[in-house]
Amino acid sequence: MDFLQVRLAPPPPPPLRSNWASPVASRGRGSGIALLTLDAFLQRLARFLDRPLFPWKRLILGFSIGQYLFESFLTVRQYRVLQQPKPPAVLAKEVSQETFDKSQAYGRAKARFEIVSGLWAQVQNVAFIQLDVLPKMWSWTGDLLFKWAPARFSGEISHSILFVFSFIVLQQVLNLPTRAYNTFVLEEKFGFNKQTPPLFVTDMIKTTLLTAVFMPPVLAAFLKIIQKTGTQFVFYLWIFAAGLQLFTTTAYPIFIQPFFNKLSPLEDGERKTKVEELAAGHKFPLQELFIIDGSKRSAHSNAYFYGLPWKKHIVIYDTLIEKTETQEIIAILAHELGHWKLGHTTRLFGISQAHLLYVFSLFSVFINNRSLYSAFGFHTTHPIIIGFILFSDALSPMDTVIKLLLNILSRKFEFEADDFANGLGYRAELAASLIKLHAQNLSTMDADWMYASYHFSHPHLSERLKALDWKPKEALTSEKDKDTDSAVKASGREEL
Ligand SMILES: [Zn+2]
Repeated sequence: MDFLQVRLAPPPPPPLRSNWASPVASRGRGSGIALLTLDAFLQRLARFLDRPLFPWKRLILGFSIGQYLFESFLTVRQYRVLQQPKPPAVLAKEVSQETFDKSQAYGRAKARFEIVSGLWAQVQNVAFIQLDVLPKMWSWTGDLLFKWAPARFSGEISHSILFVFSFIVLQQVLNLPTRAYNTFVLEEKFGFNKQTPPLFVTDMIKTTLLTAVFMPPVLAAFLKIIQKTGTQFVFYLWIFAAGLQLFTTTAYPIFIQPFFNKLSPLEDGERKTKVEELAAGHKFPLQELFIIDGSKRSAHSNAYFYGLPWKKHIVIYDTLIEKTETQEIIAILAHELGHWKLGHTTRLFGISQAHLLYVFSLFSVFINNRSLYSAFGFHTTHPIIIGFILFSDALSPMDTVIKLLLNILSRKFEFEADDFANGLGYRAELAASLIKLHAQNLSTMDADWMYASYHFSHPHLSERLKALDWKPKEALTSEKDKDTDSAVKASGREEL
């Protein structure tokens, strides 16, 4: 889990959902009847939803536009908070007027960006649907394979791989203007951007190449499982996805991250000793302590940990190390340790498994829905991958609800982890590091409650300080960091 929520840009749209679930997962005696009922319910639902002339296109368009309008409404509410001239009372003595003004201006710039980039995504979405881009791309990639590839690559799996790859590349190209604007105009203006155009382009090429390497086997396995296991696919897909998740957790830092960042072990010294003491004191299975060169791309800062339950690695941004006292880093790590000790990571893993099971169960309802396929121009062929993409769109209102619930839970976990660090006696250091990090990152210091409930995975600064029962007069570090040149960033890193 990241220590701090650093919101730079709206998260990239999930390319393809990789979440799933099955009603036949366990065949315990007591659960048999419940599963049968669930199975019957899903079958009834499948029949209900598969009616000719069901207005799928209008429904999915409506969902998408509705979601944009709802999110924009929240952004407008937040914008009003971002126009306030004075910091909230709890921060009055902690944050200089200058830093607060800058953070408000940064927040407003990001809010405007959200509205415009969201609008651009909507335009794309409507155009894709109205111009029947999916069936056109499907037949275009089919023609390509037919003309250029050997006959053995003419099956659904090869076709789906080429289709998904073309789709990803097209989306990358379409989203290039907003991504470039975000990096080279918005982040640049507030002194966060450290990326050069060549690095930006190299990153993009690397991402595309890595997609070309890793997506085909995963997608092939996904499709093969559905083809082979028929109506039982939910359970097998779930096992596959869970395995993949564990594998990625282990393999990502070893095989993928080195393409983008350098992780170097923290040098021996006071810092390392203190961190190791803290970890050992709580039996935290600390394997390695890394410094990541986040400063290569951005000046935002953060810290997180990752790894399997018995082998954890802590990663600290170089930008954080530079600007923070040892005791404050220890306090941040005490917070991270809290996440682990209180079982947050395990619970989140459990929740993500339940989510996978839910998504796959529902997908089994949609997979043979002819009306959905034909509403989107697939009258004669019904490729599984197309079904999955359309299903994901149809599921988007539920995603909104799940996002809200997960964020509520995540914020609860953040308060608990802060409380854990507080209990270890790091209250003042934790407060000091929170204030420092927020000032450096120009993170939102106050928020509209509706906007925050929906979007924030971390409570905002005022809430966290209030929960710590922080009194401004205790301040250890009052505004050492007035410049933002040295602030740091959490880029491209998923929360664990
Ligand atoms: Zn946290």
